[in-house]
Amino acid sequence: METHDLVVIGAGPGGYVAAIRAAQLGLNVACVEQAPALGGTCLRIGCIPSKVLLESSERFREARLTLAQHGIRVGSVELDLPTLMKRKETVVQTLTKGVEGLFRKNKITRYAGRGRLDGSGRVTVSQSNGALELQAKHVIIATGSRPALLDGVELDGDRIGTSTEALAYPEVPKHLVVIGAGYIGLELGCVWQRLGAKVTVLEFLDRILPGMDDEVAADAQKIFTKQGLQFRLGCRVTAAKRQGDGCVVESEGAPSLECDRVMLAVGRTAHTEGLGLDSIGIQLNEKGRIPVNDRFETSAAGVFAIGDVIGGAMLAHKAEEEGVACAEGIVTGHGHMNYDTIPAVVFTHPEIASVGKTESQLQQEKVEYRKGIFPFLASGRARTLGTTDGKIKVLADAKTDRVLGVHIIGPQAGELIAEAATAMSFGASSEDIARCCHAHPTLAEALKEADLAGHDSGRPAYCDHENAVDRWFAVDPDLQPHGLRR
Ligand code: FAD
Ligand code: AMP
Repeated sequence: METHDLVVIGAGPGGYVAAIRAAQLGLNVACVEQAPALGGTCLRIGCIPSKVLLESSERFREARLTLAQHGIRVGSVELDLPTLMKRKETVVQTLTKGVEGLFRKNKITRYAGRGRLDGSGRVTVSQSNGALELQAKHVIIATGSRPALLDGVELDGDRIGTSTEALAYPEVPKHLVVIGAGYIGLELGCVWQRLGAKVTVLEFLDRILPGMDDEVAADAQKIFTKQGLQFRLGCRVTAAKRQGDGCVVESEGAPSLECDRVMLAVGRTAHTEGLGLDSIGIQLNEKGRIPVNDRFETSAAGVFAIGDVIGGAMLAHKAEEEGVACAEGIVTGHGHMNYDTIPAVVFTHPEIASVGKTESQLQQEKVEYRKGIFPFLASGRARTLGTTDGKIKVLADAKTDRVLGVHIIGPQAGELIAEAATAMSFGASSEDIARCCHAHPTLAEALKEADLAGHDSGRPAYCDHENAVDRWFAVDPDLQPHGLRR
């Protein structure tokens, strides 16, 4: 039996980051992964391959539709789908090999196989030729998630599939039906629409992008519709099945749809099957996720859980932060996580990004706020890029001016949101951001302008000391050591 200080089950962005951080801090670490490559959903069948396809398909769209506006004639533009897919695989392989390299560098033992908890401090790894028994002082469960299923939707791993199949269609569908207008459905729907498919998105709610700011989601729907995506909102899908060479999708109160491919994208479910949670008395919560406290401890001593398998946003960077905080917590007794400043990005064109509270959340919580909006139409840089759709919206506390939420739809929103997330992590006011010098001409100036726009005269009043102190107490109630008192 092999013995380790820490065994991590799952090598996604939660698990591999936790393993590396714990090894850097001096633990003897092993990681169990059932898939042939490291990197988890994110690197193999999630963030990375989808972003490759989004980039390639956007270049194809540009070459067909917008290069001519720049005075560049390219003649006829043809799609070479096998080359496009090969490039995706190369990027994925390079990155998964990179994680292997990091494991070697940090002397992390890798066990290939399916991990299962087998009583306190014991992990069994099932392999094709038998099983290995591991003994561990600490175990981190980082087994991630898989696509949620829908009753009546008969997945066949080919024509009726999930995002995994949609990342590798062998040809451009004539008509793709996407079930669910969350970010995964929209990103991959846009990919295939740009490559030439007719794409119909069916969504149960009366809006797209649940969880994103209402106004930004409404703008996004208008822009995607202009690009050619078709939406049926308020449409509850009840069945999808094969019919002849194609498929048929049925929904409540709407005519059925014939298509040649269906992509089910109605959310993701925590991956806990066969993990042996019963053997250590862990019970799942009502959402099927593993309950943990703020140190990522489960109800079983020495067993921790992070990433998609616990509550909160199912995002790679959230899993990574938890991986670091959990490993540091195990070794040093304290780790750091700020759930109020986790950004979320939809990598469509234009991109959509947000951090902090939406307007409707602030209204529900009865928080008084100020709103500043700056449209990209008025941005010099957006004009030079030729992408002026969208806006930046900054929501700040009406009294303290502390930034509570930033919502962006527009060019490079995914990069721009980093400034907002960083500023919010330091408890910035909208005035703080507005008074920072931003290079010209850049898209980031639009964030500064949105901050300015939130103030009555378009200029903030000079910093009010009392408000600034209030803001800092809201970030960290224990500021006495810094000499600050209310
Ligand atoms: P995972 O990445 O799911 O890793 C878990 C690993 O555990 C897997 O490798 C699995 O094989 C392994 N495993 C499970 N059970 C066992 C077991 N019993 N034994 C051994 N190994 C096991 N997030 C973003 O932040 N940005 C994006 O742009 C983005 N795009 C996405 C696009 C798509 C199409 C999808 C599907 C997801 C996307 N996500 C994105 C979400 C992101 O991939 C997940 O939030 C992230 O991967 C979660 O990390 P994790 O480490 O918790 O789990
Ligand atoms: P997300 O959880 O962000 O991936 O989004 C999944 C989307 O699928 C949500 O907007 C859900 O409202 C939507 N959805 C869930 N069930 C159905 C259904 N039966 N028919 C259509 N859309 C659905």
